[in-house]
Amino acid sequence: MVSRRGAAPPGLRSEGRATRECGAVKGDGEVGGAPEASEDMVSVLALAREIAESVPDPELPMLTLADLGILREVSADGERVIVSLTPTYSGCPALAEMRRDLSRRLAAAGLDAEVRTVLSPAWSSDWITVAGRRKLAAAGIAPPLPAPPRGGPVPLALAPVRRDVTCPQCAAPDAEQTAAFGATACRALYRCAACGEPFEYVKEI
Ligand SMILES: [Zn+2]
Repeated sequence: MVSRRGAAPPGLRSEGRATRECGAVKGDGEVGGAPEASEDMVSVLALAREIAESVPDPELPMLTLADLGILREVSADGERVIVSLTPTYSGCPALAEMRRDLSRRLAAAGLDAEVRTVLSPAWSSDWITVAGRRKLAAAGIAPPLPAPPRGGPVPLALAPVRRDVTCPQCAAPDAEQTAAFGATACRALYRCAACGEPFEYVKEI
């Protein structure tokens, strides 16, 4: 890798900080690697990302922030780590808890970090990863169907929303909604017409 001396923004340079313990500083004070962050900041950001990705959703504990697709960015502001999250469903009480949990874990790892909320672009259930969808199904919860397109008029229906939800137990396609809300507002209750099992469905949004 090509060394880019002096390319890091102020605060990220390692020159003159050779006493730091997590020393990426070489003998001559030169910093190699990424042009925008010193090597030790790069490893700090990697650690912060690893921590952030592993924080569980308190309402769907089989899913992490990474599975939910709400981890927007892990970046540096000087020597401070900034972790940016996008809320899932508006008014979802889980986000506040996930923020606190994340802040605690970052602090416990000795990181000077701040958790920020990014509202735009708005989260969509389409952002739940393939791995996240597999984990939901393995827990007996049907993952969300594709989200409706955005930008146009929003149809409002008084009748229950019709969805072709597949049973996570037997994979039969014809389940019937029994309640518009499950244990949390983001879930609906269904019952499989084939095997008779009730199950939850994470709503598309
Ligand atoms: Zn079934």
